Amino acid sequence: MKLTKSHALLALMPISFVVSLPQNTERAVAVAPPQGLPPLNDIIANAKSRPGGACCAALSYVLGPKVGYPLSVSYIGTSASFWSQQEQSVTPNCVVQPLTTQDVSAAIFVLSVLSNQTRFSNECKFAVKGGGHTPQRGAANQAAGVTIDLAAFKQVKVSPDRKTTSIGPGSRWGDIYPQLDAQNLAISGGRVAPVGVGGLVTGGGVSFFSGRYGLVCDNVLNYELVLPYGKVINVNASTPDLFKALKGGSNNFGVVTRFDMRTFDSGKFWGGFVVYPLSTMPQQVAAFVGLAGAQPYDPYAALIHSYAYTTGSWSIANNYEYTRVPAQPYPPTFKPFTDIKPQLLNTMRVSGLTDFTVEIAATSPAGKRQLFITLTHGLSGPLITEIYRAADTALQPIKLALGLTYSISFQPLPTEITTKASNTNSLGLDASDGNLVLVLLGIQWTLATDDAAITSAANGWLVAAKAAAAKAGLSNEYVYLNYAASGQDPITGYGAANKANLRSVSKKYDPDQIFQKAVPGAFKL
Ligand SMILES: Cc1cc2nc3c(=O)[nH]c(=O)nc-3n(C[C@H](O)[C@H](O)[C@H](O)COP(=O)(O)OP(=O)(O)OC[C@H]3O[C@@H](n4cnc5c(N)ncnc54)[C@H](O)[C@@H]3O)c2cc1C
Repeated sequence: MKLTKSHALLALMPISFVVSLPQNTERAVAVAPPQGLPPLNDIIANAKSRPGGACCAALSYVLGPKVGYPLSVSYIGTSASFWSQQEQSVTPNCVVQPLTTQDVSAAIFVLSVLSNQTRFSNECKFAVKGGGHTPQRGAANQAAGVTIDLAAFKQVKVSPDRKTTSIGPGSRWGDIYPQLDAQNLAISGGRVAPVGVGGLVTGGGVSFFSGRYGLVCDNVLNYELVLPYGKVINVNASTPDLFKALKGGSNNFGVVTRFDMRTFDSGKFWGGFVVYPLSTMPQQVAAFVGLAGAQPYDPYAALIHSYAYTTGSWSIANNYEYTRVPAQPYPPTFKPFTDIKPQLLNTMRVSGLTDFTVEIAATSPAGKRQLFITLTHGLSGPLITEIYRAADTALQPIKLALGLTYSISFQPLPTEITTKASNTNSLGLDASDGNLVLVLLGIQWTLATDDAAITSAANGWLVAAKAAAAKAGLSNEYVYLNYAASGQDPITGYGAANKANLRSVSKKYDPDQIFQKAVPGAFKL
């Protein structure tokens, strides 16, 4: 029998690898380690089976103390930094906390090679964590595998011409905005301070500035990306296939280590919350339809229209932002809302972007059990009313769940937003969709014993809401990835052509399908 390079490696490998070598090992080992790494043979020789798993052992050999194990300070810190209790309770074998792009490259090299060689064994499966704000278990934390926590990637660097800001995927929006506020600049990003950058930008992103600049992903001018096997590339308009794939492609193509974001002049603007009793709903819905369907849509307006059930009753809590600078308080666009009385609370004021995003964060504390579920539909007042009623019906069997808060929010997604860059992102939204409404049902509760009933209520709501939209002839297949529940399929919602394109780009840049097979969390192609 002729000896191949794979056979030579067998001698160096622990027994657990010998039994599971895949057919394509030749190709995997042919990939050179990124510069500065020990030889591949040494890495494999150090991938000994031990309680933390062979993959964690190999990562420790390469990255030393940047790999943390249960009970270590770094491991506990990563676990505690997830937003939902479901994600906090996932226990990876080890957590990698890279400090540089080279560290990420090294980790991805090791994980790509060993995943492939172990036929994608669980201990070499990995998750990528940005800010850790996805509710569902496993999206950014890998049970009995490896979690790469990008928390150290917090750079915020404005270019000398003030037109681009480079931000790290482990930043929270609340880390970034104070630095931009101080320079009267802004970027399109999240509306809630503690939410992370990595997931929000790779999944789409709705911002206060979407009326002017489109979705958050439409504002990325360049990505620094670590591909499978650790190659680091810049992805921009000169690589249009991957550039488009990353705009909505989530964790399917590699690990983004830097986003270069379009930056614009800003300053203090008008915004805040107004809370009303549920009895004002007919006026609210009319005002929503007026604003969301206006021709033309007012590009400075940003609205989250929410129905919130807490402590036994419903109220309406609207978040208004009008991003024109100098600030224009109580603009005509919001008058149909701001004229509605009575108002139970009114925080409208002129302030900075940071302040508004800190205010919204108060409604979504970390550490509870969480569920998000979503749909998108065409604009119609009666349909909004019916979808709210379906949420109320779904609530009835679970309303005594300990610690329950329950809200349904409606956000305008007019063509003004969806057509800004529809050819250059993968979301599948365009002018033919007309003015849309993005709906999010969000549920928080305390006990795992209520999970099944709450998930069933949420799924029941979705069935009813979709049926109502279909009956009204206003269904839309778009499912916003960053609001989707684990049983939903946002990639299919991008449409057949986009899905096929994403798959073909994935095969081109990831022929071994590392990010499909070894990164199981969230939404796969
Ligand atoms: C309280 C709250 C407020 C929100 N507000 C908004 C809002 O204003 N606008 C909006 O559009 N959405 C909003 N969202 C939804 C938000 O976009 C998603 O929860 C998003 O996933 C958060 O990103 P993250 O980095 O914190 O999440 P994570 O859970 O860390 O990551 C989410 C997914 O992205 C992947 N990922 C993360 N970083 C990278 C990376 N660098 N490279 C490749 N893949 C990566 C992860 O693997 C994971 O699958 C909000 C969510 C919450 C909970």
